Amino acid sequence: MRVGFFGHRGRVGSVLAPALEAAGHEVRGIGRGEEANLSGLGAAIDFTQPDAAAANARAALEQGVPVVVGTSGVSGEELEELDALALERSLQLLVVPNFAIGAVLMMRLGEAAAEHLPRAEIVELHHEGKKDAPSGTARATAERLPGEPPIHSVRLPGLVAHQEILLGGEGQLLTIRHDTFSREAFVPGVLLALEKLATLPPGLTVGLDRLLESP
Ligand code: NAP
Repeated sequence: MRVGFFGHRGRVGSVLAPALEAAGHEVRGIGRGEEANLSGLGAAIDFTQPDAAAANARAALEQGVPVVVGTSGVSGEELEELDALALERSLQLLVVPNFAIGAVLMMRLGEAAAEHLPRAEIVELHHEGKKDAPSGTARATAERLPGEPPIHSVRLPGLVAHQEILLGGEGQLLTIRHDTFSREAFVPGVLLALEKLATLPPGLTVGLDRLLESP
């Protein structure tokens, strides 16, 4: 597929763009301030920053191109506007808080465990360059747990992306932990997103869950 990639020179983009090429996709990189000419592309991907992603996604949808957003921190209001635009244009808008398959499983396992141990807290730990806190994954996890579980954010050198769901009961603690050690962890999820994008209904889909289940 021919893919437009916003943020191809970033920490994630510089790993993903060559991996997509190696998998047979043709990548057109679009850096900050560069014109977003996406006509004729099969999809656009965004791994930029929270204050840029919505405008990039809008530009793609306005040019008739479905979008995969990996950037975290896009506001609910912006997502609502993008959802409306995607529906109007009959295009897919896939927003994925975490492309690591292990992290998707962590969220699922946390949700299942909370049926029996409903008192949960989330600890998310990331590299010090991460601009948003709490992380998109932590917020997406919290939405799947009962009540409003507190989220604790850690930013330190040496970390990549890590998260623990702590579920406490009388005399016991269950910890579900996922570690991303390198950005290669996101490659299979992004390839899956591109492969299955056209099978999604138009408008906003959040997360990889539905794609993991579809044949
Ligand atoms: P990064 O290293 O800061 O890279 C962002 C890149 O986007 C930079 O090359 C930046 O260019 C570029 N950029 C900024 N504004 C732009 C614009 N308007 N148009 C085009 N490009 C633009 O960040 P990162 O670590 O790669 O992470 C990117 C985003 O992905 C973050 O929100 C992060 O939280 C998220 N993320 C998501 C997942 C997931 O699985 N969903 C995984 C990891 C990270 P300059 O260098 O010129 O600023």
